[in-house]
Amino acid sequence: MIHALSTVHSTTYRQLLGDGQGCEGSATHEILDGCVCARCGTGDLTLATSWVLRWFWDLTGQWRLPVRLARCQACKARERILPFDALPGKQAGVEFVFTCVSEVRPLSSEPLVGVVRNLIKKGLRVSRQLLSKWVAGVRARGDDLFELLRHRAVLAPTDCVPTRRLVSFARTRIAARESGIVFDEVGSKDGFALVLETVRAFGDCASLALFGARVFRQSVLLFRCPHPT
Ligand SMILES: [Zn+2]
Repeated sequence: MIHALSTVHSTTYRQLLGDGQGCEGSATHEILDGCVCARCGTGDLTLATSWVLRWFWDLTGQWRLPVRLARCQACKARERILPFDALPGKQAGVEFVFTCVSEVRPLSSEPLVGVVRNLIKKGLRVSRQLLSKWVAGVRARGDDLFELLRHRAVLAPTDCVPTRRLVSFARTRIAARESGIVFDEVGSKDGFALVLETVRAFGDCASLALFGARVFRQSVLLFRCPHPT
């Protein structure tokens, strides 16, 4: 169970939400306004006084992010509070993943090995296997092939309550269009091209992630990494 907060980037997270190791954080419970408990659907959430440590990869490298928990006052469920540039269940953040996948040309049969070589030259350590999984996952996300859980990119069970589900990518695009974002429509219906086009329309992936956090309190760029076949 996860809330993505539009007011918090990973680089300002500790300052706002503390780290449980002496840094208090300046945020109050109101920072959770608009968030909804995945289990019971109510919005009566407060900041808990506990944190969990997780790895985070951004464009500067890998580091540990202390993630504060929220507690639902109605059902007592605890949920992680993530910055908008994180991807729930993944160590790599939005900017790391989408800087990498944006180097892959949609509908091209160009081998990924050259793309990976260029990324490594830029200091982005990614393997061909991982990049390939990310591209497949982003494509499936753009195609809305699977309904996913919002807290982790696994398939949503058919009996899953709506508050646990990740918003569809199509709905994200509709909300974006309604808010005035203008798309340079792609000719094909390939899901990968569609996601990259949406990122371009926003200017960059962080702006799209921020929009998703603001409108849905979710990580709209979350995708499922398929298991290797
Ligand atoms: Zn609840």
